[in-house]
Amino acid sequence: MFPKLCACCETALLKDETSICTFCRNELPLYSNFFDGDHDLHKILYGRVLLDQAVSLFYFEKKGIIQNLIHDLKYKGNEELSYHLGEWLGELLVDSGWKNKIDVVLPVPLHNQRFRQRGYNQVEGFGKEIAKKLSAVYNDTLLKRRSNSKTQVFKNRLARTEVVQNHFYVEKQAVLSDKSVLLVDDLVTTGATLEACYLALKDAGVNNLNIATIAVSK
Ligand SMILES: [Zn+2]
Repeated sequence: MFPKLCACCETALLKDETSICTFCRNELPLYSNFFDGDHDLHKILYGRVLLDQAVSLFYFEKKGIIQNLIHDLKYKGNEELSYHLGEWLGELLVDSGWKNKIDVVLPVPLHNQRFRQRGYNQVEGFGKEIAKKLSAVYNDTLLKRRSNSKTQVFKNRLARTEVVQNHFYVEKQAVLSDKSVLLVDDLVTTGATLEACYLALKDAGVNNLNIATIAVSK
């Protein structure tokens, strides 16, 4: 039997460690004061997304253990890590009074093609654990991404903003009408994907939109 390795530094994990070793856990760039009005997500999405609350577990830096962690999550199929991070952030959110404040947790959907290659969405565990902690419903079938081929057609004919507007759509819009929604994503850099999701959710009549991400670029 091979021992499980730390997602950040690849040393063998001890029996009571999950996904991340104790050393890395203490070294990871945790996002402190995440209810601050000038959260980086608010800055990134300013003027584009009408946002209620935004939270991130970590800052993203282009080197170091946080980059290894995101890589493990995205490309190495480390599903246990996704659940573990959801449990971590979920507990922080409960401590901050979020329990029962959210109706539905939605993951940013993958491209169909990528989903077929990987067979899993890397934020699924993250979203499910947060939903469990907050007593909310996790749903990965309502918010959908249009297929690549269709997007390609739009790109040739329409302006960029219209491409963004047509990227995602909500199936069964009535289900989300007047609901408090928490959208979950892994790493946010430009915010373009979140903006596109927001436009679809706004069309569905969502009451307020909150965002939780594993990491956000500084
Ligand atoms: Zn480690």
